[in-house]
Amino acid sequence: MAVLGFFSAVRAAPWLWRRAAAGLPGHCPGKGYTVGPAQVRTVQVSRSAELVSPPTFGFLLDIDGVLVRGHRVIPAAVEAFRRLVNAQGQLRVPVVFVTNAGNILQRGKAQELSALLGFKVEPDQVILSHSPMKLFSQYHGKRMLVSGQGPLVENTRALGFENVVTVDELRMAFPVLDMVDLQRRPKTTPLPRSDFPAIEGVLLLGEPVRWETSLQLIMDVLLSNGNPGTGLATAPYPHLPVLASNMDLLWMAEARMPRFGHGTFLLCLETIYRKVTGNELRYEGLMGKPSILTYQYAEDLIRQQAERRGWAAPIQKLYAVGDNPMSDVYGANLFHQYLQMVKHDGAEELGADGLWKQRPSATQSCSSILVCTGVYSPKTPGSTEPAQGEEPPFHGHRDFSFSPKLMEASHIVNDVDEAVQLVFHKEGWAS
Ligand SMILES: [Mg+2]
Repeated sequence: MAVLGFFSAVRAAPWLWRRAAAGLPGHCPGKGYTVGPAQVRTVQVSRSAELVSPPTFGFLLDIDGVLVRGHRVIPAAVEAFRRLVNAQGQLRVPVVFVTNAGNILQRGKAQELSALLGFKVEPDQVILSHSPMKLFSQYHGKRMLVSGQGPLVENTRALGFENVVTVDELRMAFPVLDMVDLQRRPKTTPLPRSDFPAIEGVLLLGEPVRWETSLQLIMDVLLSNGNPGTGLATAPYPHLPVLASNMDLLWMAEARMPRFGHGTFLLCLETIYRKVTGNELRYEGLMGKPSILTYQYAEDLIRQQAERRGWAAPIQKLYAVGDNPMSDVYGANLFHQYLQMVKHDGAEELGADGLWKQRPSATQSCSSILVCTGVYSPKTPGSTEPAQGEEPPFHGHRDFSFSPKLMEASHIVNDVDEAVQLVFHKEGWAS
C-alpha cells in the first residue's frame, strides 16, 4: 500500500487500542475541569496580540461524538463555537470538519451542521471520508465502478469522476452475475452482451446494501479486468486500480452494540480476493481518517481558508479534536510523524512513496486532542476489559500497522469546548 508505505514496520501491542477505547491510558478529566487563574492571566495579557496578529493555528474537528450524537448537538459544541466566532459572526481561526461518514453529500452535511451549531458552515469546510478522491485526477476520466449507497452518482461527480457505473447498473447489464438471492435471479437466460464498455477501476465510497451483490460484482470486475461479461482464464495481477474510503471496522449508533462499518465490508472483499486468487487486494488510495492523505487534504483546506480571509501569517500548528483513538488520535499523530519526516527528509522523497505531493507547507505540528463525549469513555457501553493475559483484537485496517505511541493523545479533555479553551490558552488567545 503505497500511501502507507513509510510507517509499515510495527505491528505490536494491540491491547493498547482496547485500553484506549476503555478509557486508558489516559482518563477523562473531572467535570470540574476549568482553565485555572494563572492561565486566565496569560490569556488577558495576550488579548491585544490576537487583535493585531492573524492566527497561526487551525482546527480539525471530528463531527460524530464531538459536535453531535445522532441527530442531537452536544451542548459543549455550541459553547465552543461561541468562542470560535467573533462579533461579526466570522471564525477567528480556520476550522475544517473531518468525518469518516461518506454516504451523504458535502453540502447536506454542511447544512445539517449549520442548523445544529447556529453558525454557517460552508460545504468546502466539510471533509467526508472520500473527499481526497478529488486528488486522484488520473482516474477522473476513466470508467469506474462505484460501490456504496445514498447519493452515489452525485457524490462521484462532485469528486470529479465523469464516467461512473453503479453496482446496480452493472447488475442490470449482466443479470446472471447476481445469484445469491433466489428471488432476484433472472427467470430466463438473457443474451450475452458485448456492447458494455470495459470498466477501468473501482471506487469504494462506503458500505453498500446487499453486500453479497456488491462483493460478487466487484470481484467479477477485478477478476475479468473490467469485462465481467466475458471472464478470463487467469485473473490479472496487479488488478484494476481500487480507491477506497472509510476503513472503520465498527461504529456506534443507537444500538447498544457496535455496528458494521465500511471497514468490515473491505475486510470481506480483501479476504475473498486473497482466498480466490492467492494475492492481496491492493489499494491505489485508502482515505478517511487515519489516512495521512485525509490530513494533507485538511491541511490544504485550512491554508486556503486562511488565504481567503487575508490572514498573512502561515498556519504552523494544527489541532485535531476527536473522540475515537483509532481514527482521530492515531491519524493526527501519524500526520504529525509525517510532518516531522518531511521536515527531516524533504517532501519529494515521500512524494515518491505515493503520498500527495503538496506545495511546500508551513505546518510544523498536528496535536491530537481526545474528548470524552463519544467513543472514548471509561464507560463505553458494551466495552469490556480483556481477561488477564488476553490480547484484545486490533480493529485498525490491514494496511495500518499498530504503533502504541500513535494511540496516545497529546491531550485528553472532557469536551470540544474545553479543547478550544485549551488551544486558545496554549496559543495565548482569549477565550
Ligand atoms: Mg467521531
